[in-house]
Amino acid sequence: MADIIDGKAFAEGLRARVATVAADFEAQAGRKAGLAVVLVGEDPASQVYVRSKGKQTVACGMASFEYRLPVETPEAELLALVEKLNCDPAVDGILVQLPLPSHINEQKVIATINPDKDVDGFHVVNVGRLATGLPGFVPCTPLGCLMLLKDKLGSLSGFEAVVVGRSNIVGKPMAQMLIAESCTVTVAHSRTKDLPAVVRRADIVVVAVGRAEMVKGDWLKPGATVIDVGMNRIPAAEDGKTKLVGDVDFASASEVAGAITPVPGGVGPMTIAVLLRNTIVSAHRAAGLELDE
Ligand code: NDP
Repeated sequence: MADIIDGKAFAEGLRARVATVAADFEAQAGRKAGLAVVLVGEDPASQVYVRSKGKQTVACGMASFEYRLPVETPEAELLALVEKLNCDPAVDGILVQLPLPSHINEQKVIATINPDKDVDGFHVVNVGRLATGLPGFVPCTPLGCLMLLKDKLGSLSGFEAVVVGRSNIVGKPMAQMLIAESCTVTVAHSRTKDLPAVVRRADIVVVAVGRAEMVKGDWLKPGATVIDVGMNRIPAAEDGKTKLVGDVDFASASEVAGAITPVPGGVGPMTIAVLLRNTIVSAHRAAGLELDE
């Protein structure tokens, strides 16, 4: 049986470290580090995320600024708010919760965020910094995956890694980070031929596809380390209930893998913890204070 990679425990530890650093920051800078989260509309999943981000920000000793705007908010009004936050010295990180209502151009909103406050790492300047090895902000979910991998495996140098999925928020930045760690990286997607054979080459498999339990145990090289980013709600055995499952078939994969993240309790809890980490990093950079990242 594979070792279970406990993302929940790792995220708790990371939040505790962020809280210690945030207290030191406040003592040195004379202010709290601050994260602004903007939500437009009433998407239920987004509301849950935003509430949880606010609670965890405060629990880490940082200031949380929440903006909840009605669904019909004009694009210009949202852009004006982002520009105001760009200039606010109490705000170190700005996160606009996606998806946005269809009348708002997401790319335009992301492009308006000051790249040095873009703690989500979605601005093209940060995408370019990641691709060229410059310091910037890296998207939270793949950075959380990398932290779990390094915690489990130590140096990743020379490993064969396969990333399944090529989205801008998970797959592509994950591949860039693994290249930077000197892995040999393959990025697979919906047009990849013979995906099981490609996955079977990998010492490290990161799956971010959005298809429940797609990757089976017999797709894996024995002993591989498997990071399952997927979050899919499927009907549970009991009437009317649903359950959360990943993109990897945990039952068969855990028979073959060396280590695997469960869903829930694997990658999921890492995302907000990394967001808080990115915010405290941003605060130090803004204040010109040293931080051992
Ligand atoms: P996207 O829908 O943006 O991208 C999915 C990717 O998977 C695409 O590149 C697509 O290929 C590829 N794909 C789809 N079907 C197949 C297939 N049959 N075989 C191979 N590749 C396929 O998804 P995201 O990256 O945003 O999210 C992926 C999953 O991760 C979702 O379940 C999401 O809920 C979860 N997630 C979890 C987070 C967390 O905090 N734990 C955060 C973000 C996402 P193509 O490009 O060719 O269409």
